[in-house]
Amino acid sequence: MANIPTFKLNDGTKIPSFGFGTFQIPADGSTYKAVTNALKLGYRHIDTAVAYFNEQEVGKAIKDSGIPRDQIWVTSKLWLQDYAYEDAKKAIDLSLKKLGLDYIDLYLIHQPYGKVDEAWKAMEEAKKAGKIRSIGVSNMTPKIWNKFVPHFDVMPSVNQVEFNPYFQQKELRKVLAKDHVTLEAWAPLGEGNHDLFAEPLLNSLAKKYDKDVGQIILRFEHQEGVIVFPKSVHEARIKSNQEIFDFELTSDEMDAIRALDKGKGQHDPDAPGVAKMLLGAFDVHAND
Ligand code: NDP
Repeated sequence: MANIPTFKLNDGTKIPSFGFGTFQIPADGSTYKAVTNALKLGYRHIDTAVAYFNEQEVGKAIKDSGIPRDQIWVTSKLWLQDYAYEDAKKAIDLSLKKLGLDYIDLYLIHQPYGKVDEAWKAMEEAKKAGKIRSIGVSNMTPKIWNKFVPHFDVMPSVNQVEFNPYFQQKELRKVLAKDHVTLEAWAPLGEGNHDLFAEPLLNSLAKKYDKDVGQIILRFEHQEGVIVFPKSVHEARIKSNQEIFDFELTSDEMDAIRALDKGKGQHDPDAPGVAKMLLGAFDVHAND
């Protein structure tokens, strides 16, 4: 893919606005294969996390690609069990080691519960030390944002949240816009949601532009100023998902897709018990 557009973050860094997601791709060679394919096809932004257990394969695919380090954007995320200050410092170093990198482009607080303030301090320091270029958060609703972010010294550069035509985060985007915080979309394709892919509006636009529905969705998100990194393990989809920079939706079409918003996603970070459920889900250090 030639010339992936970049967005400028509030810390001045330029991030490729389009990348590759690796959630739920196992570390049995599948992550290595998918990331290798993505890099071959022109992707230059990879989104991983400690909790995906596949940082090592992401790092190996990057190294073996031979692409200069400064041409690839790498995001990873700190997991919930490591938010105590000393644990967070160690976890950042471990991410660097697993990825085999000298620095990580973007590091996120993956889930906004518990000792978020301590984790953020460790991340601010790692940024100062050059181990991380940009820092951000994830899964922060307006309520959670207002609980934590006013205590931070450094403003997050991104908030990575569920976002697709069915859940357009209209309230959150107003909060983020005040501080020039960029929204990153997880589940940009609704994780393959059949209803979304069957939407008559999206299908008629696909026909008009000779694109597929996935491309219409991703193009809409791109034009909304949202960073996207769809995941796929299939080469044909890895290729087609990025072919969204040769057409433009009109403002009426953008408005029509905006009207598909249901204001609600599959995951509600404000729901009671979420923190406990996530913390008990697995141990990211089980195999260290
Ligand atoms: P996506 O919306 O990217 O959807 C991925 C699913 O859609 C897969 O099942 C894939 O199947 C399928 N798919 C991919 N391309 C197409 C297509 N063109 N047409 C139809 N189906 C398609 O969901 P993700 O949850 O993976 O979100 C993207 C990334 O966001 C993640 O990979 C991860 O990096 C990040 N993320 C972050 C979270 C957080 O808490 N911060 C939470 C969840 C995700 P197949 O592989 O078989 O092609």
